[in-house]
Amino acid sequence: MADKIAVGGVSVDTRHWIGGRRVASSGTFPDVSPIDGTTLGEISRGTPKEAASAVAAAKAAFPAWAATPRAERARILHAIADGVEKRLEELAIVETTDNGALLRSHRRGVMPRVAHNFRFFADWLLSLDHDDFDTFPSGGSAAGRGHTNHVSWDPAGPCVLITPWNAPLMLATWKVAPALAAGDTVVLKPAEWSPLTASLLADIAAEAGLPAGVLNVVQGYGAEIGDALTSHPDVRRISFTGSVPTAQRIAASAAANLTPLSLELGGKSPLLVFADADLELAVDLAVEQYDNAGQVCLAATRILVEEPVAEEFTRRFTEKAARLTQGDPRDAATDVGPNIHPRQLEKIDGFVQRAVAAGARAVIGGHRSDGQYYAPTLLTDVAQDSEIVQEEVFGPVLTLQTFADEDEAVRLANDTRFGLAATVATGDQARADRVGARLVAGTVWVNCFFVRDLQAPFGGSRQSGVGREGGTWSFDFYCDLKNTVTAPKGWTDHG
Ligand code: NAD
Repeated sequence: MADKIAVGGVSVDTRHWIGGRRVASSGTFPDVSPIDGTTLGEISRGTPKEAASAVAAAKAAFPAWAATPRAERARILHAIADGVEKRLEELAIVETTDNGALLRSHRRGVMPRVAHNFRFFADWLLSLDHDDFDTFPSGGSAAGRGHTNHVSWDPAGPCVLITPWNAPLMLATWKVAPALAAGDTVVLKPAEWSPLTASLLADIAAEAGLPAGVLNVVQGYGAEIGDALTSHPDVRRISFTGSVPTAQRIAASAAANLTPLSLELGGKSPLLVFADADLELAVDLAVEQYDNAGQVCLAATRILVEEPVAEEFTRRFTEKAARLTQGDPRDAATDVGPNIHPRQLEKIDGFVQRAVAAGARAVIGGHRSDGQYYAPTLLTDVAQDSEIVQEEVFGPVLTLQTFADEDEAVRLANDTRFGLAATVATGDQARADRVGARLVAGTVWVNCFFVRDLQAPFGGSRQSGVGREGGTWSFDFYCDLKNTVTAPKGWTDHG
């Protein structure tokens, strides 16, 4: 196995990063580019042994990192952000080659956000403090005792962070940055279909001066090393982004030690288009759902349109979607790239063919394109209780249903086991407020989509997740919150 491979001209280490050293496993797994099926290299295939040494390294590094003054932790996080910005072009080309998402998105949007993740949580850390407050300060029988409460955010310990392949570095750093800021140490397990940028992150963090063992990266198949990480008694937090079935396994494994979990899972989010909406805007929002070839957890894959505008909406949508260019994600003109893996492509096609067999009509698409690409698809004539409406496809496949009024729109929108996000297109602000209040979703977007500020809580309701991350919510998760209550009396040093 080569220790380093060249990907788009960038050298990437194929080994784990444990305790500040590169460590190889005896076995490997192939990393294949979805763009053209090229094998990019053989990656260290972690075993429970490497998983255990990564946790041990994180445990050993924890006391010193937790005791590092906040300002110093923040300085190092900013230095990591500087490193990401310096290597932005390299990260973008490696990520695109590895997972097939658009190069122009990685350059302009995703990688700048990766740097921002570190800067944001570094700055937030410095603003984290809770004013002391008196117990019962406002009178009454228990008043006047003068006790004060002080809330502190104590670092929790080693964290296991497990991430998917659809936005690898972006999703990893949503977790890594707040965990490190909080004073925790980390074992990051990236997805086996897109392992490369996590390895580059380890290099960048080391160059930025992050002490050995504070960030560890273990590569490999989740089924082979997941348990060793998530059932480890020294792990204090597990944050996972991925699918519901994997989350269920992780929750079972974490139960042995009651390790706190944050779970960001799948979705089947609706886009509600009311007749009073700016229809052009609504069509743009709908077409945007093909981004990243539909491999977006938040994607509004169920388009619900009010009856009077359904025909016009479908006509305009079809026209606009026909102008999407599918192809190599490195080309600036490409709008829709490949799907991640032949298995994923088969899964997508299986969903579509079963839907069509059950009576759905493909208004556009409904079939594979050449190579590892799937034609952007819109299905109509779908029943609310059908598989295609209820289950996450994770490909460029949307369904369209109509509704008669607000009540029906809300009923259809809420009628799945998910609750990640919902998008509402309407020209009526009062309706937006009414409908938004009734939707079950971690995020509701009104006349916009995918606008995410790190200050806001992010996560899913129902089976779309457990817990919220972002801003203070991230620190609530990655820290042990402590309240210290002090009496006004009892001091002996009266000076
Ligand atoms: P997945 O659940 O198959 O894998 C995710 C990660 O879990 C990978 O790193 C994998 O190796 C690891 N894993 C697998 N088995 C494991 C086990 N037994 N123990 C521990 N780890 C294990 O998901 P995926 O196919 O990589 O990602 C797609 C899913 O992720 C979709 O459902 C999508 O909606 C969801 N997702 C959610 C969000 C969100 O923020 N809510 C964001 C992106 C993706």
